[in-house]
Amino acid sequence: MAAAVIDGKAFAQGLRGRVADAAARFQAETGRAPGLAVVLVGEDPASSVYVRSKGKACQEAGMTSIEHRLAETTTQAELIALVEALNADPNVDGILVQLPLPKQIDDKAVIAAIDPAKDVDGFHVVNAGRLAVGEDALVPCTPLGCLMLLKDQMGDLSGKDAVVIGRSNIVGKPMAQLLLGESCTVTIAHSRTKDLPAVVRRADIVVAAVGRPEMVKADWIKPGAVVIDVGINRIEAGESKTRLVGDVAYDEAAAIASAITPVPGGVGPMTIAVLLRNTVVAARARLGLGAEAGL
Ligand code: NAD
Repeated sequence: MAAAVIDGKAFAQGLRGRVADAAARFQAETGRAPGLAVVLVGEDPASSVYVRSKGKACQEAGMTSIEHRLAETTTQAELIALVEALNADPNVDGILVQLPLPKQIDDKAVIAAIDPAKDVDGFHVVNAGRLAVGEDALVPCTPLGCLMLLKDQMGDLSGKDAVVIGRSNIVGKPMAQLLLGESCTVTIAHSRTKDLPAVVRRADIVVAAVGRPEMVKADWIKPGAVVIDVGINRIEAGESKTRLVGDVAYDEAAAIASAITPVPGGVGPMTIAVLLRNTVVAARARLGLGAEAGL
């Protein structure tokens, strides 16, 4: 039987609607909208597109978007001075510094300068630590979005065997922590894992976050497993065209899995929706307001 297609686009739209309602309630309670500051250094075209779509999504959800575009030649000290000003600004609830940064700037130093209470990307070590010990944390957007899709599809995840392929700080590691928090038995696989197909074959849940087009094949998938494909890879599609594919060979895996996310339209749309969600969550937490249900 063909797998159910997990519609991340529809789920993300629903989440954005719930965030908009929560932002309106925040405004009614506090007299101002939740505010997200996005900082872009340099002219990287892909980053520029991301920043623009984050700002637009913010405004659509009734939130304030504050964009700072700095020159490619910005120094680390200048960028950190801006981050500190945003930390001190009471109308800013979330701060996102778009990565990658130019080579003269150390990402880690900049992330460390962000107030953890405003770290809506969840990259600060304080938030990574809180997630690891099971305390309330701001969690990286992409893996939190994957978890939302999994829970929506499967309900209780407790006791499931989960394999996360990839161990980046942005996706793989926080994904593994989130699944552990749901009482899954979690394996983190990576580029040095031996016999990856055999490891993946154990999994009830597969999360692929590698960046290798269509690496995960159908015969790696246990029949009935749920597959979440984080990968976004652009490949040649003939006649000088390109197309996007994930890390999973979608058509063949969809014949074996019970549910699978497509690329595009699966995990991708979740990232910005969760960023908006994290901003409202951060705004309420900073002001000591109670958490919102349904986020
Ligand atoms: P990364 O390059 O930081 O990490 C990739 C991981 O894959 C590494 O931990 C590495 O050990 C592992 N790996 C590499 N080759 C492997 C192999 N042959 N076998 C097993 N593991 C291998 O990448 P990342 O930032 O975690 O992103 C992963 C993918 O997810 C990329 O395609 C990226 O574009 C995509 N991504 C998508 C979103 C989204 O919004 N949907 C967000 C972030 C990343």
